[in-house]
Amino acid sequence: MTAIPYHRAFVAENQLGHVTEAMYGELSSGYGPFGERAARLLREMTGAGHVVLTTSATTALDLSALLLGVGPGDEVIVPSYTFVSSASVWVLRGAVPVFVDCRPDTLNIDEELIEAAITGRTRAIVVTHYAGVGCEMDRITKLAERYGLALVEDNAHGLGGSYRDRPLGTFGRLGALSFHVTKNVQCGEGGALLVAEDALARRAEIIREKGTNRREFFRGQVDRYRWVEMGSNFMLAEPLAAQLVAQLESFGEIQRRRQDVWRAYHESLAAWAHDNGVARPVVPPECAHPAHIYHLLLPDMANRQALIAHLAGHGVQAVFHYFPLHSSPAGERYGRTAPGGCPVAESVADRQVRLPLYPGLEERELRRVIDAVTSYRVS
Ligand SMILES: *Cc1c(COP(=O)(O)O)cnc(C)c1O
Repeated sequence: MTAIPYHRAFVAENQLGHVTEAMYGELSSGYGPFGERAARLLREMTGAGHVVLTTSATTALDLSALLLGVGPGDEVIVPSYTFVSSASVWVLRGAVPVFVDCRPDTLNIDEELIEAAITGRTRAIVVTHYAGVGCEMDRITKLAERYGLALVEDNAHGLGGSYRDRPLGTFGRLGALSFHVTKNVQCGEGGALLVAEDALARRAEIIREKGTNRREFFRGQVDRYRWVEMGSNFMLAEPLAAQLVAQLESFGEIQRRRQDVWRAYHESLAAWAHDNGVARPVVPPECAHPAHIYHLLLPDMANRQALIAHLAGHGVQAVFHYFPLHSSPAGERYGRTAPGGCPVAESVADRQVRLPLYPGLEERELRRVIDAVTSYRVS
């Protein structure tokens, strides 16, 4: 019995062909035809004004911090229950992340707690759409407007997801996507920044290209390129953009299988979850999600650990993630926790487990995971 891993990378049919074409093409750095195609496909999928490809979601968030000019003395509101990059990029600029607790149902930032975390120093609100299930964006966009704060979406999970039919990543001034190997669409390492405003998008192109206007040079708009701004190098190389194009061309196929697996878990585990006091994912009616994660919340940590061990005994690898940021070593050193602390994030982090979910999960493997879970009894 071979073990069923938590994750297997999906490789699209055209992926190798596209990479070969990119390697032998005239431009295998940035600005090649695959980079243009990937950005166009992402614009079509999201309706974003501009799509700026980057080397990762982390560098897309880095770029956000540079674009917004956040720096020493500033505070940025971030969820505690998210990936480290949602917070660390602000620290890199000398700002203080202020950690807000999550909701017990969607595990997204608790919109009711954001206002109490706002101070005269607050510059931005960061939200992460956990598992690609949208945060309460009606409330959050209004808060950001009322206080004049930039809204930044860490949409690493949510490509293809929507809130009241509007694609995730397009509510804020800036939205970050990840194409890390573990995400629904992957090119190993890669990302993109969705940008609403033209002026910000133009600056984003400059900052990701070492602070030069090289893009305008490539487009024939200027006859030489020069250093015009601060900057770094967040350019996605053409062979990775080529893989991204192949994956985006297969998005329908990827999503069909992911949705099938997600629904199979949700239906097949309903009775077991009910009998054992286990919570399944909650998707509010206004949200459509891209089946990025299937997680369960056990009644306590002992049962979570026991379930993971039980699954391992049945050849199924399950994992847990995240550790809350507010109580992590760097979170304590660089950040501040909003009034009331983050008790929900702490509780959820102790009780959560994620099941294997990817297009290559075969039908008999899916059954094996479900049988392994339902043969566990919560004690
Ligand atoms: C994966 C992930 C990131 C980081 O993405 P990279 O592309 O690996 O930098 C950021 N935020 C969240 C919520 C993620 O899941």
